[in-house]
Amino acid sequence: MFVLPGDSIGATEEFRAGTQTYESAGNIYATVAGTVKTDNRDRTISVIPGTSTPPVLKRGDVVIGQVTGLRDSLVLVAIAGVRGVTDRAIPDVGPAVIHVSNIKKAYVKDISREFGLFDIVKARITDLRNMRLDTSEPELGVMKALCSRCRTAMTQNGSRLMCPECRQVETRKTSTDYGSGII
Ligand code: ZN
Repeated sequence: MFVLPGDSIGATEEFRAGTQTYESAGNIYATVAGTVKTDNRDRTISVIPGTSTPPVLKRGDVVIGQVTGLRDSLVLVAIAGVRGVTDRAIPDVGPAVIHVSNIKKAYVKDISREFGLFDIVKARITDLRNMRLDTSEPELGVMKALCSRCRTAMTQNGSRLMCPECRQVETRKTSTDYGSGII
């Protein structure tokens, strides 16, 4: 049985609340989207996070993800979600890649001035087979940057980003939605 967060999945007189569930007034509810699993030995009912029908990623989709690596000419991104899909997990597609030529319309000399490790980014899928992403549109790019020195979320200050903790100043290829939380 596939359930969404908040769905009632059983009664406490019948089951014990397991992982990814909570009890309220005699009922057990799911805290994540996923599949219900019952353990017949100890009568535990749990939800295994996941999805019954993963949305199929398409070329042109806008995704949100986290930077997991920086190379000379590549940014590696772990995709965490797809715009327009909030109720289901996405399939694990492995790391996606933003090539230096797809970061922005202008020439990029130093990739570390455009992205930082663990930044949250918004990007468009341009090549599904090779999981290539593009951030050259104004709306795309870094949504939340972490200070390279102390990992605090940086605030936008004109064309630069500033760390409110240690005052470090850095640059990124920011989205026009930087810091807004809008995907
Ligand atoms: Zn800092």
